[in-house]
Amino acid sequence: MHNCSIVQQLKDLKTGKYSAVELTSHYLERIKKLAPLNCYITVLENKALEAAKNADEDRAGGRDSALLSGIPIAHKDIFCTRGVRTTAGSLMLDNFTSPYESTVVEKLRSAGAITIGKTNMDEFAMGSSNENSYFGAVRNPWDQSRVPGGSSGGSAAAVAAGLCSAATGTDTGGSIRQPSAHCGITGFKPTYGRISRWGMIAFASSLDQAGPMTRTAEDAALLLGIMAGRDKRDSTSLTDPVPDYSASLNQSLSTLRIGLCEEFFREGLDSRSEKVIMNAVRVFEDMGVRITSVSLPNIKYSVPAYYVLASAEASANLSRYDGVRFGYRCDNPVNLEDLYKRSRSQGFGNEVKRRIMVGTFALSTGYYDAYYRKAQQIRRLISNDFKNAFEQVDILLGPATPQPAFKLGEKTDDQVSMYLQDIYTIGGNLAGLPAMSIPSGFADQLPVGLQLIGDHLDESRLLATAHQFQQQTDWHLRSPELETGE
Ligand code: GLN
Repeated sequence: MHNCSIVQQLKDLKTGKYSAVELTSHYLERIKKLAPLNCYITVLENKALEAAKNADEDRAGGRDSALLSGIPIAHKDIFCTRGVRTTAGSLMLDNFTSPYESTVVEKLRSAGAITIGKTNMDEFAMGSSNENSYFGAVRNPWDQSRVPGGSSGGSAAAVAAGLCSAATGTDTGGSIRQPSAHCGITGFKPTYGRISRWGMIAFASSLDQAGPMTRTAEDAALLLGIMAGRDKRDSTSLTDPVPDYSASLNQSLSTLRIGLCEEFFREGLDSRSEKVIMNAVRVFEDMGVRITSVSLPNIKYSVPAYYVLASAEASANLSRYDGVRFGYRCDNPVNLEDLYKRSRSQGFGNEVKRRIMVGTFALSTGYYDAYYRKAQQIRRLISNDFKNAFEQVDILLGPATPQPAFKLGEKTDDQVSMYLQDIYTIGGNLAGLPAMSIPSGFADQLPVGLQLIGDHLDESRLLATAHQFQQQTDWHLRSPELETGE
């Protein structure tokens, strides 16, 4: 049952093939057996079983109208969950129990989903390998000597390993798509503002966006429909009505035009991955989709612009962790300055400190114009590149990552190489566009993710394109072999 999509599990729950308690217990057992993958920071065993029992009782009493009734979902530990520890992968929040529920968690819970646990992640969502977590690295279920990607690596690995029906993630520069690619699952980042950020611990507020991480595009459509929408507690959430994404999955794609991003197929792309992506392009051609090539001339500046902007915003957002109100506090401070200094030095990990320093520098007098303002100008140029591209095509296609999952420890001493892992994903964040990664094949037994990028609020077409690709291929149905003794 753990290899089924949510859509299938909902049918099985309905016909009584298994109960919500059985499904939840099955996942809880697998989580224990596969604990070395380190996907979870917190497992909510009792709460999840209780919620499953309620779902079964509702169903028995004919009250199972909730869309996701009885479906166990894991949340990246960046989403505040009321009464539950919420750490953002940091010692700084190791002892933090959230007094409120984030909008994403609340919406999924109201739709009947069971919160099974909180997944591991890079500290404050900064990273591309999950090795920046205070709670230790996550292992890639396809090859446990490799990283799952980051920062939503726990969520991606948990879905791939069959440790939950689906998971939530956040994507500031690629953190849903890149780990989804490395773990062979479907990861969806919607248009900026489509999903409320309320209760989602902030990294870079103008880029952060939540999204579903699932086995199939059909499941992503289902979850997105529940997660999306205006929230008066987040003024950047969009007021546009939320379409029925599931209903339009089979819309005709006969007039669809897909553009290959020229710049994504140059040096830097692993030749094995390129082969897989080009095979996927052929699948689209066979489906009758028109494929052309388009250029995003300024996309080469996306990584440097992102690391200035994201770090600048992070330095402001993370100033709230001062050891005074909540979170980590150093022992025996001698005065206020000592309290700030030691609480922050001890509570944050190295990568987070590096970003705070870069961000503070970029925002300081004398450097603001040279770095921050320049980066904002580049951001506009990149948005314009996408605007021009979407006058020629409906969807852009490329790889999600430069190569398949790399070895644990391989890049921990090379920040630039680590930052370049998001070279194909960051553009979508800078321009606020919806984008996704879907399984498209394997290179040396490791999954390769295909990235599709859509125009603003064109989620329906993006999901339909991915769904119809998944009707023609079976990459998304493959699962890693894992020793559980089942
Ligand atoms: N890897 C990128 C970073 O470290 C993106 C992270 C993210 O999307 N949260 O900033």
